[in-house]
Amino acid sequence: MDGGDGRGGVFLFLGPPGVGKGTQASIFSKARGLPHIATGDILRDAARRGTPPGREAKEQYMDRGNLVPDKIMLKIVNERIDRDDCDAGIVFDGFPRTRSQANYLDGALPNRGLRLERVLYLDAPEDVVVERLSKRRVCPSCRANYHLRHFPPRKEGVCDRCGTDLIWRDDDHPETVRERLKVYENETAELVQLYEERSLLFRVDASGGVEEIRAAIEAAG
Ligand code: AMP
Repeated sequence: MDGGDGRGGVFLFLGPPGVGKGTQASIFSKARGLPHIATGDILRDAARRGTPPGREAKEQYMDRGNLVPDKIMLKIVNERIDRDDCDAGIVFDGFPRTRSQANYLDGALPNRGLRLERVLYLDAPEDVVVERLSKRRVCPSCRANYHLRHFPPRKEGVCDRCGTDLIWRDDDHPETVRERLKVYENETAELVQLYEERSLLFRVDASGGVEEIRAAIEAAG
C-alpha cells in the first residue's frame, strides 16, 4: 500500500476498549496486505513467554487496567516497525494511546519512509462496550475472539479454529474494565481531536455487527 506519494501508508485504529478494534484491524490488514501491529497482543505474548518486561507489564499495569509506560511501549514498537514487512505500510491497533506515543509516531514514520494515511475511529456507547468486554472470551493461541451470547464457540470453552481452551482475559473482568474506560477517557480520547484537526480522522459507528462495521470502514477508502 502506497500512501499516495510513494511512501507506505499507515492506518491507526482508535477507540475505547471493547469497541472491536482488534477484529476490524485484523480484517482490514488482511484486505490491504499490511502487517497488523496490536500492541496489546505483543504484550500478552511477552507475558505468556515469561520475559521480565512482559511479566512486569502484565502484573504492574495491564491487570490493573493501566497503560504500560512509554519506556517499554516505545521500545517494543520501535523494534517491531524496523522489520522489513513494515516497509509497505502498517495497521496499528491500540497504538498510539497517549499524546507522547502520537508524537513518537510523528517522528518515527517519516524516518522509515512511511506516512500516516488515516485514523479509523471506532465509537460505541459505554454500555455496549462494557457488555462486549464482559462476555468476551479469547483464544490465547490463535487470538480468535468470541462473545458468549452473540458469537459463542461451537463447543463451550473451546476455540472453534484451533481447539485451545478459551480464556476470560484478566483485564476483561468488570472492575478492570471500568478502570480501562477511565484511562481511555483521560489519556487516549484527546487523540480523536488531534487527528481530527489534521483531517485524518474517519468516524465509524461501531455499535452494530462485525460485517456492518467492516463495510463502513471499507467505505472510508
Ligand atoms: P488491548 O489488547 O489493546 O486492549 O491492550 C491491553 C492492555 O495492554 C492495555 O489495557 C494496556 O495495559 C496495555 N497496552 C496496549 N497497548 C498499549 C499502549 N499503546 N500503551 C500503553 N499500554 C498499552
